[in-house]
Amino acid sequence: MPNALFSTERSSWPLVNKGYRGRFAPSPSGLLHFGSLIAALASFLDAKSTLDNNNQQGKWLVRIDDIDPPREQAGASDEILKSLDTFGLHWDEQVLYQSQQTQLYNEVLANLAQQKLTYNCHCTRAQIKTLGGIYQGTCKTLNLSNTNNAVRLINQVAISQFNDLIQGQVNCDFALAHEDFILKRKDGLFAYQLAVVVDDIEQNITHVIRGCDLLEPTARQLSFFATLKQTPPQYGHVPAATTAQGFKLSKQNKAPAINNHHPQPALIAALKFLGQQVEPDMINVSVDEIITWAIKHWQRDNISSTTKIVID
Ligand code: GLU
Repeated sequence: MPNALFSTERSSWPLVNKGYRGRFAPSPSGLLHFGSLIAALASFLDAKSTLDNNNQQGKWLVRIDDIDPPREQAGASDEILKSLDTFGLHWDEQVLYQSQQTQLYNEVLANLAQQKLTYNCHCTRAQIKTLGGIYQGTCKTLNLSNTNNAVRLINQVAISQFNDLIQGQVNCDFALAHEDFILKRKDGLFAYQLAVVVDDIEQNITHVIRGCDLLEPTARQLSFFATLKQTPPQYGHVPAATTAQGFKLSKQNKAPAINNHHPQPALIAALKFLGQQVEPDMINVSVDEIITWAIKHWQRDNISSTTKIVID
């Protein structure tokens, strides 16, 4: 049923259910590293091992989260796509670039503003920090203009608990869950929460399997789905790969890129990290054979919900 919020322009929301639709949504702020390979592989295998009534595998989409140009690394999008291909993670449908979605994001923001579900905010991070770190709605009644100000959602449907396919029941900080969070930043860039939810709706995503570093934002995403009166996907968060010192592998802390020239070792290490019972001689077979085996034997329940140390 079309949602009243989008009844005119977005009459196609939500689309008819097309079975399992998963996605991997890397930010092009660096190359694919072992941590992101784990997330990509888990979401791919979960989609491809799920068959519909006609015995068709689930769809797996790739979306490039390029909404933050200052943090982008030149050429990273193409390199990420090349790596995914090399690792046998072939996507369905066209790659969606968030940088091409500006019109849709603005449309959603305009609709929310019209419904009085957002307000503009001039508070800085430092000011919020002095007030305890959680935004207290300071600007809610100030009626500020949208020039040089952030746009916040009036968070009427705070969600502080949800069931995760891998982590089980997740509880979030109550105050944080109730915060009016940012949909558009002061610098004019769209916020991750806005873009990710709008695109998950637009692409009719049914399952989001990704890294545990995104557990906290999930509660906000669920709140935003509820505000937009849309059915959220099911979420599953795989443990984060860390260094022996306990640092998360991430682009920000310069995790090394995976080796595209010899993908088998990283692929097998990623499968082991995900608790899959890899056979010892698999190191000698082709990437496509490993992937075919992994789809056939995928056991989501084998993924440990605790963080493991894997890499130095
Ligand atoms: N682009 C985000 C990242 O690379 C992930 C977004 C998502 O999976 O929701 O961390």
